[in-house]
Amino acid sequence: MSHETESHLLSLSEAIAGLSATTQQLHRLGIEFLPVGDPEAGKVWLHEHTQRPELISPDSRTMASGPRPSSSATGAPPSVESASPNREPSSLGSELLESSNPYPEALPLADRQRRMCRLAAEVAGCTACPGLVQSRTQTVFGEGDLAAKVCFFGEAPGADEDRQGRPFVGRSGELLTRMIQACRLAREEVYILNTVKCRPPHNRNPDRDELGNCRHFFETQLELIHPEYIVCLGAVAAHTLLNSKASVGQLRGRFHVYRNSKVVVTYHPSYLLREPKAKRFAWDDLRMLMADQGVIL
Ligand code: SF4
Repeated sequence: MSHETESHLLSLSEAIAGLSATTQQLHRLGIEFLPVGDPEAGKVWLHEHTQRPELISPDSRTMASGPRPSSSATGAPPSVESASPNREPSSLGSELLESSNPYPEALPLADRQRRMCRLAAEVAGCTACPGLVQSRTQTVFGEGDLAAKVCFFGEAPGADEDRQGRPFVGRSGELLTRMIQACRLAREEVYILNTVKCRPPHNRNPDRDELGNCRHFFETQLELIHPEYIVCLGAVAAHTLLNSKASVGQLRGRFHVYRNSKVVVTYHPSYLLREPKAKRFAWDDLRMLMADQGVIL
C-alpha cells in the first residue's frame, strides 16, 4: 500500500470514528434524525486498515505484541475466536436512549465535591462488613477528577492500597497508570474506584455480602461523577456492575451499558502482570474505548 493511500485510509478512519461519536452525542441530546454509527463496525474497519506499528506508542507496542492467550482453569480468557460467535450486534445507541435508570441531573462541581467528601467520611466510619473491618488498616475510597469522562472500576484494595489509602498503587497501579497514559490521558484526568472499600484478608475476592454492603457507595460515586465511560477491570468488577456471570473473555470487545455510561470490560492489571500475553487484548479494549471518542491510538 502506498504512503498516500495509507494516509487517506487513516484520515477516513478518523473521520468515521469522529462522526460516530458526534452522532451518538447528538442522539443523547435528543436529536434523533441522524443514523447512529456502529462502533463495532468502525473498530473492525480500523483494525483491518490502520493497524500499523508506527501508530502505537512504545508502551502500547509492548502491550500489543504478545501472542494470543489460551483458556485455562485459572480463569484465563477464551480466545477472541471462541468468544466471537456469542457476540451480540451493537445496539448501544438505542440501549442508552431506553435506559430506565438514568443518572439524575449532574450537580455543579462544588456540590459534587461536597457530596463526595461526605460520602468518603461515611465510608471511613463504615463497619458493615465485620470480616473486613478487622483486617483493614484504612478504607480506600477512590480518587481522581470528579468531572472525569472515564472511570476505571477495580475489584478491591490490596496490601499497598490498604497501607496508602489510595486505589491502584503498587505494581498493578503502575501498570494501570501506563494503560491510562497509553490512552493519552493523565491519571489525574480519570476517576479510579473499587467495588469494595476495604481490603479482603489474604487478597481473597470480596464475598457476596461484602459486595452488597458496599454497592451503594460506588453507585453514589458514579452517580455524582456521571462518567461517559466505565472501564471494568477484571471479572469481579464486571460481574458486580453488570450483574453478569460471563467471563471477561466473553464480555470484553464490545460496549455494555450501566445507566448512562458505556461500559468496557477488560482484564485486571494484576492479571496482566501474571499473564502478559493478555496485554494485547487489554490494548484492543482501550483502543475501542478511545476510538469511540474519536481518538485513534
Ligand atoms: S467494604 Fe464497604 S460496606 Fe464493607 S465495611 Fe468496608 S466500606 Fe463498609
